[in-house]
Amino acid sequence: MYGYLGARRDVSKNLSFAMIRSPDQDYCIQIISSSKDIEGRSLDSHRVLRSLKEWTPVKIIGTFKERQPAKDDTVLGMRLINHLEIDLQFIVPLNEIPIDLVIKEDTVFSSAQRHLQLRTERALRENLRQRSIAKQAAIKQLTHNKFIEIETPVLFKSTPEGAREFLVPTRNKGFAYALPQSPQQYKQILMASGIEKYFQFARCFRDEDLRADRQPEFTQLDLEMSFAGERDVKKCIEGVVKAVWNDVANIQLHPGSEFPEMTYQEAMASYGSDKPDLRLEAKIHNITTSLPEDLIKKITPLQSPAIDAFKMHIGISARETRKFISNFLDSPEGKPFLLNPDGQPAVFVGDTAQPLSGLSALGHEYAMAPPEELVVEDGDLLILQARKNEPFFGGSTTLGNLRLALHKAAVAQGIVSSVEKNKGFNFVWIVDFPLFSPTNDTDPGQGGTAGLSSTHHPFTAPKLASDAKLLLTAPEKVIAAHFDLVVNGVELGGGSRRIHNAEIQEFIFRDVLKMRNERIEDFRHLLDVLRSGCPPHAGFAIGWDRLMTVLLGKDSVRDVIAFPKSGKGEDPLVKSPTVMTQSQLDTYHLRLTE
Ligand code: ASP
Repeated sequence: MYGYLGARRDVSKNLSFAMIRSPDQDYCIQIISSSKDIEGRSLDSHRVLRSLKEWTPVKIIGTFKERQPAKDDTVLGMRLINHLEIDLQFIVPLNEIPIDLVIKEDTVFSSAQRHLQLRTERALRENLRQRSIAKQAAIKQLTHNKFIEIETPVLFKSTPEGAREFLVPTRNKGFAYALPQSPQQYKQILMASGIEKYFQFARCFRDEDLRADRQPEFTQLDLEMSFAGERDVKKCIEGVVKAVWNDVANIQLHPGSEFPEMTYQEAMASYGSDKPDLRLEAKIHNITTSLPEDLIKKITPLQSPAIDAFKMHIGISARETRKFISNFLDSPEGKPFLLNPDGQPAVFVGDTAQPLSGLSALGHEYAMAPPEELVVEDGDLLILQARKNEPFFGGSTTLGNLRLALHKAAVAQGIVSSVEKNKGFNFVWIVDFPLFSPTNDTDPGQGGTAGLSSTHHPFTAPKLASDAKLLLTAPEKVIAAHFDLVVNGVELGGGSRRIHNAEIQEFIFRDVLKMRNERIEDFRHLLDVLRSGCPPHAGFAIGWDRLMTVLLGKDSVRDVIAFPKSGKGEDPLVKSPTVMTQSQLDTYHLRLTE
């Protein structure tokens, strides 16, 4: 047998017990070692065994013997073969464990020793195994539906698709490839290439600010279908997700029915987020028309604002709730909400000892008929927040963020139970996104001068003919044929029906986004391909790292990636990226400026 040596127990000079872990550490079995064999000849294996450190990779030869079944049938999370043991006759170490490497049960390895984290943490290896099973389930489902797996180039070109790219300089002076932020353009080209249904587990690269669940390189299950629209794609993605949940977790999601849908405006209005966690029930309500004018003036400097509110049922006394909210607003998490130029959150605490339960400032009209979900009990928190009375753009509202932050704080303090306790996966399609959003500082967008960027990417089609008509006159009102799949507050992926007409595509680049000619020319290949009789098509991409994180109930995508990058985009094990040497700079004709 091959395996890793486990802990050893020396019973006497002549007798030792040790464990051997199978190479996959699925099971272990006890070795029994004596200094002499049955005929009294001395055994060198006993000396060798006693000289080896735990975790040494070994080859052993011995004889199985029945044993008195051990009490437990697991050891350190491994299956213990508890009715047999191995009478050791021969053992050879296959490598050494250095003296300075101490591996104990509770040793915590840093991410620079990712190999030891993986070797010693069963849960991490298990995540990778589940990831492999999930991938097989998706491939099976897609191939069954006549999708074919096609690899597209990783050395691509720089185009203003939306995210910041990584450039790959070449030895040809002044030339560079770019790593793909997604295979979007190639997969659309495949649709013009007579491929009906394409998929790929694609590595994507985005040089973005690394938020908690983002990696500079990540995996997407990317797919595209020709002669297809939103419904076809949603159906296919639901099939994949259901197959994966079934094969990995043995969970039947929405059997016989489709995932529900919610419009983007509704998600933003009711949950303050375009990725609502439907497990957290208390919704946000617009109560502007029920509030007295003078109260509105007190809580915001905005003219004709919208006032939203939500209630948090906490189940503690009014006094304790006041303490909770004031501690929160004084904390670093709470501070930014006080600095909101649209006004601070207005806090009310349900208190039966006060007139109108502590809500008299909200006025008689409100107190007489509050929305059912905002009726407060003693100790409940009611929070009001003003915002500009405009359609929503972006990923979340201030009140939406406050609602989540307060929930998190209350869970951390043990005041309310976590929504995670409420098991289950609440999937929802978010539809009817705006096709364009105001350009912001963090995303490069398409670099046009219209002050607009594509919400999804510039290849997404307007939803209806009536939307297409608004492209020139009111682009901010155009609804997109774009949809995201969200589960438990996490965006699993997004997709859309694409523009397959070259004139409309160029019109969007030039007249709506107002991109410079030079940048439009970066997309000439795509425009030419669309012009060649490209059929209508639609597609989607699932963020595979995120899907695995949600499915396995992990906190971070790092738990489901073998070699993740750190928050600074570095791989601490191989120590990448590295400083470029002068000779490398010379090879690529590059010069560093101060
Ligand atoms: N390429 C898109 C993305 O990476 C997905 C899609 O539209 O298919 O988000």
